[in-house]
Amino acid sequence: MALMPHAPVRKGILAALVALVITLPNAVFAAGPLGLPDAPPATDATRLTITWLGVATLLFDDGDTQFLIDGFFSRPSQDSLTSQDDAARIAPEIDQIERQIERLGLQRLAAITPVHSHFDHAMDLGVIAKRTNAAVLGSESTANIARGAGVAEERIQVLEGDAGTYNFGAFEIVLIRSAHAPLVDGGPPIPGSIERPLVPPAALTDWKEGGSYSVVVRHPAGSALVQGSAGFVPGALDAIEADVVLLGIGGLNLLGKEHTARYWAEIVEAVAPRCVVPIHWDNFWQPFGTIVLASQETLDAFAWFDAGKAGDAGPALLAPQFGVGMDLFGPRCGGGGTDS
Ligand SMILES: [Zn+2]
Repeated sequence: MALMPHAPVRKGILAALVALVITLPNAVFAAGPLGLPDAPPATDATRLTITWLGVATLLFDDGDTQFLIDGFFSRPSQDSLTSQDDAARIAPEIDQIERQIERLGLQRLAAITPVHSHFDHAMDLGVIAKRTNAAVLGSESTANIARGAGVAEERIQVLEGDAGTYNFGAFEIVLIRSAHAPLVDGGPPIPGSIERPLVPPAALTDWKEGGSYSVVVRHPAGSALVQGSAGFVPGALDAIEADVVLLGIGGLNLLGKEHTARYWAEIVEAVAPRCVVPIHWDNFWQPFGTIVLASQETLDAFAWFDAGKAGDAGPALLAPQFGVGMDLFGPRCGGGGTDS
């Protein structure tokens, strides 16, 4: 998790949303809570779509092969945890997951990897993998989430070392060891590893971070970098290029301007994308499909990018729309692609 668990999420959301749209100076097409132009929706000509499903859950689909980053459809309510009660136990919501597998048509899902193993990224991935027969990639902690859901060992690939490359259909997936947003004493909240198969229901704190990754998705239609949590390893992405960055911004407000500037440099400037799509800014205690800003402060921190780092000289900033297949690789995303 990257957003503040103590946020008073239910109060004043409407007022905050109204304030945001009014106060953001560069909001030319202030359609959504970020005050950014919407990312272009896919057309029939789009070869590779990316669908944002809240927080950092992202579905890549080229028509033949699907690849999922994260897996978080259950979205337990904050009430169900009786506010930070570690004894409260949560579990994947099977009906909801099955509905979304059906609705999204995940029959061609080749693999799932989470950006790390916290519940708001990885809680449902085992159930999704078990039902779709997708492979699971990631840390030993991620593997133990999959094992706890009954995923067969031969469908699980544990990353050894700092990077790994995997191929599925026309996709090449590269996992690169990164860092979680350093929100607690310079490290992640809920640190450590999941040491045994995680069989829910379990405490929220049982979904330990287990190592964080940058995920590079390469495809003949274009390349994307997914940075789900607002941390970085200096220099780790210097040799990486990507057309698009899907950039987690949760927690930047707590980390401050200096961290935010370094984060932008280490992630966005390093890979020099044509466009940047912020993710992990929605309040993850809301039900799946309900997208509201986590807090006013989230947007304030995002404006640090908007004011100083993007714009004319930098990549286009575009807002994801929930559940809509986006075309982020064609000319409508500031690129020179000819396929859309
Ligand atoms: Zn996290």
